[in-house]
Amino acid sequence: MNALTATNRNFRYAARILGLDSKLERSLLIPFREIKVECSIPKDDGSLATFVGFRIQHDNARGPMKGGIRYHPEVDPDEVNALAQLMTWKTAVAAIPYGGAKGGIGCNPRELSMSELERLTRVFTQKIHDLIGIHRDVPAPDMGTNSQTMAWILDEYSKFHGHSPAVVTGKPIDLGGSLGREAATGLGVFFATEALLAEHGKSISNMKFAIQGFGNVGSWAAKFFHEHGGKVVAVSDITGGVLNKENAADVKAKFIIEAANHPTDPEADEILSKKGVVILPDIYANSGGVTVSYFEWVQNIQGFMWEEEKVNHELKRYMMSAFKDIKTMCQTHNCNLRMGAFTLGVNRVAQATLLRGWE
Ligand code: GLU
Repeated sequence: MNALTATNRNFRYAARILGLDSKLERSLLIPFREIKVECSIPKDDGSLATFVGFRIQHDNARGPMKGGIRYHPEVDPDEVNALAQLMTWKTAVAAIPYGGAKGGIGCNPRELSMSELERLTRVFTQKIHDLIGIHRDVPAPDMGTNSQTMAWILDEYSKFHGHSPAVVTGKPIDLGGSLGREAATGLGVFFATEALLAEHGKSISNMKFAIQGFGNVGSWAAKFFHEHGGKVVAVSDITGGVLNKENAADVKAKFIIEAANHPTDPEADEILSKKGVVILPDIYANSGGVTVSYFEWVQNIQGFMWEEEKVNHELKRYMMSAFKDIKTMCQTHNCNLRMGAFTLGVNRVAQATLLRGWE
């Protein structure tokens, strides 16, 4: 099932549980704005290369839109759309004052040199600079991008608008990045796992962990599990498999923590739930990254840098509080954790939308 169909399905299910008016449901589902731009650059050998870039701004009822930019060969409008929508629910679940967006360029960053990547990032920024902004839409890293990519966006954006460190998050520390941002998604996954296990009378130190994906998120999460006595028994890298309806029945795990965005399609979700596997959904489990992005943005606006202990302490507080709120929704609506998180996020956005009105 494609990512957008799956995400829309989860959203509609949550809207039904909440009893949302069908017109409000439609307005929450359709993106605020979809941007598609042509990005042509000279390659190092002098030849021309053209890529397609996207920025989907899904919703801004709760604040400026927020979400990463990914560089990946499979980036397409439907996928970016789904991921933008997930950011809207994710920021609402995390209770940070943002809406949701996502961007991407269909390219293979491994096949581009540093200077080609820099040119591509600058051209993309030139095409979208008047549609992003500190109080409008704040990009961040995602798959295939990193703090260097954010530094280029910041530099290019600043040529048009003056120095504006808060226009992107996930920046290098020397350009206004936050201490703790690099590890934040992995640390958030750790706190989320701790909260879930405590509910089941278990702790990190008596569990075994198989980690799928060993990039920025998986590698940090593995480190935190290991440091707290967890046994990391398996890791897979970028070539590893996806969960789906073919392999869901073979999954032996009791708990699945979705550290990636949209790693389980709804058919697999159903199979796993029937087997009694507890799934901690992506829009909560990996929200540590965007939460510390929020702290970075706050620090930039305050012009005051926090110590790493404060960043991590605040992250833990946000993760624990979101878990409690999700559990309350699960109890109120007698639903699983995914629907607990979706109803929590959708309800917060719906309330903000209703309060703002349509005039
Ligand atoms: N790309 C990350 C995510 O999917 C972080 C987004 C952000 O920090 O804005 O949540």
